[in-house]
Amino acid sequence: MRQAREAGCKFADFTGGEPLLHPKLPEFLAAAKKLGFVTSVTTNCLLFSERAGELAGLVDLLHFSIDADSAELHDKIRGGESYNRVINSIDAALANKLYPDLMFTYTEENINAIEGVWKLAREKRLILILDPVFATSGGEDKVSRNAHRQALDFSKKKGVYLNRAHLLLRDMGGNRVRDPLCRAVSSTVVITPDNRLALPCYHHRCVNVGINGDLAGVLRSREREEALSKEGRYSFCEGCHINCYFDPTYQFAGGRFWRESVRSKLRYAVTKYLLYRRPWPIWGFKKPTSLGMPITIDEYGSTPTAGKRS
Ligand code: SF4
Repeated sequence: MRQAREAGCKFADFTGGEPLLHPKLPEFLAAAKKLGFVTSVTTNCLLFSERAGELAGLVDLLHFSIDADSAELHDKIRGGESYNRVINSIDAALANKLYPDLMFTYTEENINAIEGVWKLAREKRLILILDPVFATSGGEDKVSRNAHRQALDFSKKKGVYLNRAHLLLRDMGGNRVRDPLCRAVSSTVVITPDNRLALPCYHHRCVNVGINGDLAGVLRSREREEALSKEGRYSFCEGCHINCYFDPTYQFAGGRFWRESVRSKLRYAVTKYLLYRRPWPIWGFKKPTSLGMPITIDEYGSTPTAGKRS
């Protein structure tokens, strides 16, 4: 993480699978905070209540995955009895001065549950994030225009965040290999649990470079240079709209993508930090050597087949 910070990374995103399965997660977060990263964790809440105290003060952007406004539908989508865990985790987080956003990955199946989840978020003064489910292979959008329209209309309500650039990207048919938008390699450093740099992105990692204590060297390696020259141009990149990589990509894209993304993020920041008066993440003071990149540390668990679900 020290080398990642020196290379210009600003965000450390501990994701999965389920990051709370790792017993040393609090140690990793503390190290990241000490180095000046803004930290983020996305969890399914199955283990959160028991571990909330360990995470206090260590997570700047905490996301709780919630798929419905009822145990019946949430548990059907997720399996097991997890809805009540999410509800209990909200109280456990607030008791430890952690302020989660509720992350609602919308699909055809749960789109009508938005309102109920929004009411829950409003009641607790939490941000509701609407994230369109994405396909990890092939460019076909798994969500109908009608459902996107519903989400877009709902995003105008108070306390709701939807990065509208995601919808613009889908309208345009996703990434095009002839004129690529994707900046997965230049914007993000993805490290797998076996300490390898995944290239060009986690979901289509066709090259994995062992780090062996020299991330700085790996970031200058021939393999990464090659991946940089091909980002968004691989055959599997046609139509791609994987939210995790396009979110940091929009800062490079300029034009409407940049404007829509910045506008959405400003709205999030104003609501969360000014209206809801939640504590602003403390940024490190170390001057980055290049444009800010997130470092994504993938934890235990398998690659989600669709959408960012934890
Ligand atoms: S376009 Fe998609 S598949 Fe291709 S490198 Fe970017 S994120 Fe990965």
